[in-house]
This record gives sequence, C-alpha cells and structure tokens, in this order.
Amino acid sequence: MGFSTDAIHIGQEPDPATGAIIVPIYQTSTYVQTELGHHKGYEYSRTGNPTRAALERNLAALEGGAFGFAFSSGMAAIHAVTGLLRTGDHVVAGRNLYGGTFRLFERVLRDYGLSFDYADTRRVNDVDRTLRPNTRLLFIETPTNPVMEIADISAISHLAHERGILVAVDNTFMSPYFQRPLALGADVAVHSTTKYLNGHSDGVGGAVIVNNPDVAGRIRFLQNAVGAVPAPFECWLVLRGVKTLAVRMRQHSENGLAVAQHLERHPKVKTVHYPGLPSHPQHELARSQMTGFGGMLSFETGSRENACALLKSVRLCSLAESLGGVETLISHPASMTHASVPEDERDRLGITSGLVRISVGVEDVEDIIADLDQALESMPVCPS
Ligand SMILES: *Cc1c(COP(=O)(O)O)cnc(C)c1O
Repeated sequence: MGFSTDAIHIGQEPDPATGAIIVPIYQTSTYVQTELGHHKGYEYSRTGNPTRAALERNLAALEGGAFGFAFSSGMAAIHAVTGLLRTGDHVVAGRNLYGGTFRLFERVLRDYGLSFDYADTRRVNDVDRTLRPNTRLLFIETPTNPVMEIADISAISHLAHERGILVAVDNTFMSPYFQRPLALGADVAVHSTTKYLNGHSDGVGGAVIVNNPDVAGRIRFLQNAVGAVPAPFECWLVLRGVKTLAVRMRQHSENGLAVAQHLERHPKVKTVHYPGLPSHPQHELARSQMTGFGGMLSFETGSRENACALLKSVRLCSLAESLGGVETLISHPASMTHASVPEDERDRLGITSGLVRISVGVEDVEDIIADLDQALESMPVCPS
C-alpha cells in the first residue's frame, strides 16, 4: 500500500472490544493477569502499552523498518542509540549536529568513556579520515540545521559497513515521507517526533527505527531498562499527527520552495539555504536521496541588526525555537538554537549573526510571503 494508506492504517485496526476506529489511549500502568504467567502481551506500561505499540508499528512501517521504538523525547531516542556503545568506543558525528545531540555527546557521554569526533559529512573523504579503529557509530543529520548541508547516506553507509560501523541518521528534518535512511543503507533512523511526525506543536517525543533484530533487541531492552518512555496520550497525539503526514509534508515543501524562491529574488536577502533550490550546492544529491525538500530553510540578512529588525517585525511568523508544526516559526540560530556553539565555530559552519531560519508552515503561502516582505522592509541596512 501507499505511504498515506500505511500512515492512516498500520497499527491502527479498529479496537476489537468496541469497534472504535481510533486507537484508544490506554491510560493504565498495569494489566490484570488471569493466572501466573498468563497475560495478553502486556504486563506493565514501561515495558509495553497498546497505544505506544500502535505508534511503534506505524512508525516502523513508515520508515521501512522491521522494529520501531517510541521514546519520551528525541533526545531520549538518541540516547538509546548511544546505548548500543560501550566504554572506549568512538563515534563520528556530523560537525553541524542538533545542539542537544552535541551536548549529550560532549557533556554526558564523554564522561562515560566514549569519544567523539566531528566530520564535514558533505564529504565522504572527510568522514573516512575521521574514522578510527575503535569507531562503532556514525551519527549523521541530513539536511543539517540550519544551513541545510546534505550528507550522502548511501555512500557514507557503504563506507561504514566496510568497517563494521553502525550508521544512524537523525531523520527529523525530512520525515519518512521525503527520506528513508534505512532504504538508503543506514542501520538506524532516529526522530524527534516533536517536529513533523506530531506536526502540531503539542507534544514532545522521539522514536528509533531499525531492521536488525539484535540491534532491535538491545534498543527494546534499553527502552525498558532506562525507562524514557512516552505517555499513552503523547503516543496518541503522534498517531493522530502522522495520519496527515503526507499531505502536510507536500504542503510544507510546496510552501518552502515558494518562500525560498521569493527570498532568493529579494534584493535585501544575500543567500538562501534550501536544498530544493537549483542554486543549493548539493541540489543534485538532495534530489537523488530525497523525494521532496521539506519546509526548513535559512537565509542571510547580512547583519545581526538586520536579523533583529526582521524578527521584531514579523506578525504571522512566530519567533520561536522548534520546527515542523503547521504554523510558520522563525528564529535566529546564532542566539537561540546554536547559542552554545562558540562564535568562531558558528562562523565556520555558516551560522552567522545575520542568519535567520524559517520552519515554513502550511498557512496560505501568499500570507507567509507578505509577512516576510513587510518584515524585510524594516531591515535598516542592506547586506553588503
Ligand atoms: C528537536 C530535535 C532533536 C531533539 O528532540 P526533542 O524531541 O526536542 O528531544 C533532535 N534532532 C533534531 C534534528 C531535532 O530537530
């Protein structure tokens, strides 16, 4: 069946007890057993819960994986992936990681005896050079946040598998509708379901999807042993959101491209980072591994004063962190999501003080563009 059919139906058969078409919120901690050792597959809700199981089956199918695991946040999901490692192991990650992931690696897991190096994942050679004999995991994001660099998932997976290294891809920005890391050769797809999968900015969650039964066994063990599981209601919200993932993603992408094209033509905008633009340096690679380009873009206003004026003047676009909801969010990476990255490193990554990021929502695109236009008017200085 097609993606939307799967999104609406897999894991979501009508409730056998009542016929309810929507998976109930099984708000229960425990399950009554008829006699010792006899239960209906559920014993305790940290270990398993029917609402969560429905979501896990659904997300596994959408990512083209055999096993799905839901977590209480994207960070909990990423932490579970690092639970596949042992003291002494080395990880190579993208140099432009989500800030929370970088913080987990550097300020939590380093103290547990794991080591990390960061590569320019646009270049397979750079990844290759960063590998060590004890490298066990390659952790990448593509496109990266907020400058939308692309990593070649297939080439990187090929390189890693020659050395027995596991490849995990944070697929939050694209969602399985536009990019399927497992089909491209990766071993693990990880998500912050907080973003596009939920899609309505009303919950926090994460997911891990894998094919290998041994890896799945370890993730399942960690999910129960560590206990960072989502509440049934949170799972239900993601299940509801996912039903419209395809239609939302198509609109996010259509609006994203229209906004990117408009900004690219705008005299006050220097550069636009959007993988759907032919001017994106990796547009061809993006086209080859993604089936759409999503709603995330960033652009250069030329200075912090310009960015500040623009962000103060928007009316429809909301100044906020996060992304992937139906409403358009606008942010200033250098002082918000990437404030903890040292300035020289930010400059090296292209996260300048004039850079503005947009999570383009699914409002009428004319309204988004009109709002950006009136806000751009307020910018005091033209970029050099
Ligand atoms: C938001 C985000 C995360 C972290 O997810 P939470 O749900 O906030 O814990 C990880 N990776 C990416 C790419 C994200 O955007």
